[in-house]
Amino acid sequence: MAGKKRETVIVFGGGLVGSLLALFLGRRGYRVDVYEKRPDIRYTTIEEARSINLALSDRGWNALRALGLEDEVKDVGLPMYARAMHDIEGNLTYQPYGKEGQAIYSVTRFSLNKRLVSIAAQMPNVYYHFNARINSVNLKRKEAHVTNLLNTEDEYNAGADYIFGADGAFSNIRSSMQRSDRFDYQQFYIEHGYKEFHLNPNEANDWALENDKLHIWPRGTFMMIALPNPDKSFTCTLFFPFNGPLSFESIKTKEQVSEFFQTYFKDLVGIMPDHADQYFRNPTSSLVTVKCFPWVMNNVALIGDAAHAIVPFFGQGMNCGFEDCFTLDQLVEQEGTLEAALPKYQLSRKKSADAIADLALANFIEMRDSVGNPRFLLRKKIEAGFHRLFPEQWIPMYTQVTFSNVPYEDALASGRLQDHYLSQIMEVPGIDKAELTDAYLTQLWSDFVAEGRKL
Ligand SMILES: Cc1cc2nc3c(=O)[nH]c(=O)nc-3n(C[C@H](O)[C@H](O)[C@H](O)COP(=O)(O)OP(=O)(O)OC[C@H]3O[C@@H](n4cnc5c(N)ncnc54)[C@H](O)[C@@H]3O)c2cc1C
Repeated sequence: MAGKKRETVIVFGGGLVGSLLALFLGRRGYRVDVYEKRPDIRYTTIEEARSINLALSDRGWNALRALGLEDEVKDVGLPMYARAMHDIEGNLTYQPYGKEGQAIYSVTRFSLNKRLVSIAAQMPNVYYHFNARINSVNLKRKEAHVTNLLNTEDEYNAGADYIFGADGAFSNIRSSMQRSDRFDYQQFYIEHGYKEFHLNPNEANDWALENDKLHIWPRGTFMMIALPNPDKSFTCTLFFPFNGPLSFESIKTKEQVSEFFQTYFKDLVGIMPDHADQYFRNPTSSLVTVKCFPWVMNNVALIGDAAHAIVPFFGQGMNCGFEDCFTLDQLVEQEGTLEAALPKYQLSRKKSADAIADLALANFIEMRDSVGNPRFLLRKKIEAGFHRLFPEQWIPMYTQVTFSNVPYEDALASGRLQDHYLSQIMEVPGIDKAELTDAYLTQLWSDFVAEGRKL
């Protein structure tokens, strides 16, 4: 932008994606103003902010690396190398996430957000405005109506050359767009909600479970997961139906909670003695998927959850939002201006966001139901064998989503093909008892998998 008037950008929402976007656009020389309805996170404690634990994986790291922030962020995360499945008796089985050394990282939304805001706010051309709630946007004038939450009588309009709605799943920017002609919008809730539990360090002030794993208690129609925190605690999340015979609705007393834990999460009872208190103290939240289009109207654009809220079962919502920022930045590089980049951004990212939304819904079934199933584990072993023997031709779909930057839609397409082959292989008589030697796997490969096909 040398020689030209500095173009201005307003980002509504200073969460994870809004702050990362401010960093990318700030680096490109735009004047960036970020409006965030919450108080300044740099002076807030984790107890005051409602935080959740997130798995940060390659797509997120890729965006952070492009900004040179990998090292600055690494210390807020803990690597998790495998899933640890807890069966009903508390016995453990393990499933590595990737190849040796590959991990996804447990981060708290609060710590990561705080870190990103701290870094972005230091840039000379990035300005944060906290306690500032955006109510609506005038698309024609590229101006938003804002309320100062410290003095609600103070209302004003904020305008810029470009406006981004990074204001999350219930975006007010998107609501304004929805009133435009030919704006498609779809939202649906799944029948499960979630509730968090805090698992304190043990008496020796150590982690109560292995700290380099993501723990799962798959129980068919529901599940619990646990992710480690740097303070040696774990954040556990129960994904459970809202209604039905075994549901948030059906468990009404402390005795019922204790019985529920005793039956399904026996190995948690002793290490989380206050589970019944937490059940009633901690809120129950719902899980929504949002799909919409277009994402860009007159240089007002949606990004992150505002454009594509997804359920958390692939651990990709934030990673996908970070990839939005990375892709947009690359397109600005390629096209020369933000204005030219935006139409390409929405076309490329919409396909990807729809694909990961579908994958995330499907992965819930896998996590809560299949991961404890011996036939599923066998299928995974065959798949891992194929990957080991034919690493160029067979890359498991999970690996493509989590440990690569292959577009989500391509990962979805090859996952469907892999499913097709594996379903046929699982019908081979005696497969349950077969020894999975390299020779046997190679035979299966040549019998069932199309030669030379890249999956
Ligand atoms: C239980 C759970 C587990 C998850 N696990 C993972 C995971 O493992 N990995 C992963 O990648 N993703 C995960 N996600 C998804 C991830 O949390 C979201 O995708 C991510 O937070 C989206 O970031 P965002 O900045 O787009 O939106 P948000 O994080 O929702 O941030 C929006 C920001 O906008 C602000 N805001 C909202 N409205 C206004 C307004 N009117 N005016 C001004 N400011 C406003 C909010 O205060 C907030 O700071 C999970 C989500 C849930 C619910």
